[in-house]
Amino acid sequence: QARILGRDRLLVFTPKMHEKARGAMETLMDLRQAMEKDELILFYQPIIQIPDEKITGVEALIRWKHPHRGMVSPAEFIPIAEETGLILSMGKWILKKACTDIKALNDLHPKKPITLSVNLSSKEFANTELFEQIRQTLAETGFQPELLKLEITESVVMGNAEAAVITLNKLKEIKVRISIDDFGTGYSSLSYLHRFPADSLKIDRSFIRRMHLGGENLEIVRTIVTLGKALKMEITAEGVETAEELAMVQELDCPCVQGYYFARPMPLKELNTSHFFHPLISG
Ligand code: C2E
Ligand code: MG
Ligand code: MG
Ligand code: MG
Repeated sequence: QARILGRDRLLVFTPKMHEKARGAMETLMDLRQAMEKDELILFYQPIIQIPDEKITGVEALIRWKHPHRGMVSPAEFIPIAEETGLILSMGKWILKKACTDIKALNDLHPKKPITLSVNLSSKEFANTELFEQIRQTLAETGFQPELLKLEITESVVMGNAEAAVITLNKLKEIKVRISIDDFGTGYSSLSYLHRFPADSLKIDRSFIRRMHLGGENLEIVRTIVTLGKALKMEITAEGVETAEELAMVQELDCPCVQGYYFARPMPLKELNTSHFFHPLISG
């Protein structure tokens, strides 16, 4: 147990803290090589439109197939990638790979092209080359800008409001769409929401999970749906896991859902052969 003595404080560095710091260090070192070693994989989770329960799009979600640790959650490595700036090259790879994959999928099913949602972290959003990079990736992959939806959280926008509006407007000019992810958990004010050229809101799973408790929880979801509709935004309920939750969002007239009830994130190949594209009974 190491002790770091400050002038007036004693910081005890416990074995547990040590392990945690070492863990992050190791993760970082492995992560640097993961991209070159093809250990990063994109999964896609369907987004379903409620009336007919058909697929309308997918969200790209990164996975890391670690040689010793198995699948590592993005919740663990995305923050490390962000802190170290590694997210910039990683994000570039993600966008290109996702556009290439979904372009190929849409080419196979030209009658109903689906949208592609890609998450952007704050570091990526602060990058002055982001716009040019997106424009170039679209050109290179031939992916239709109208079908690309960039997901950003409220904090990404609020942290850099003026610059954010400029970038978002430039993206809007080339027809790329913007979604506000995890809506309701951040600090966005209504006045900002109104000024942002965002096209859709994704209601955070924490609200969906608590809806069955009724009362305020349900009213919050109802209010977000009403707000989104008033601002002419698309609305997606995140993390719908049960038939009960589906019935409730349906009742609230929320147009789209994403969640384990319909599908988990899956590899491209699985998506392509899934019932979303090959219904057993066509009709
Ligand atoms: P997010 O963008 O809000 O993504 C939704 C998360 O909810 C995903 O977790 C998804 O697997 C999970 N989810 C979807 N439906 C359900 C459900 O019914 N129940 C439960 N329990 N979970 C559900 P995941 O894939 O672990 O990703 C976590 C977060 O990591 C994402 O949250 C996003 O913030 C970040 N992330 C993932 N992929 C990327 C990426 O490619 N780039 C960046 N910058 N961030 C990413
Ligand atoms: Mg997201
Ligand atoms: Mg989310
Ligand atoms: Mg999230």
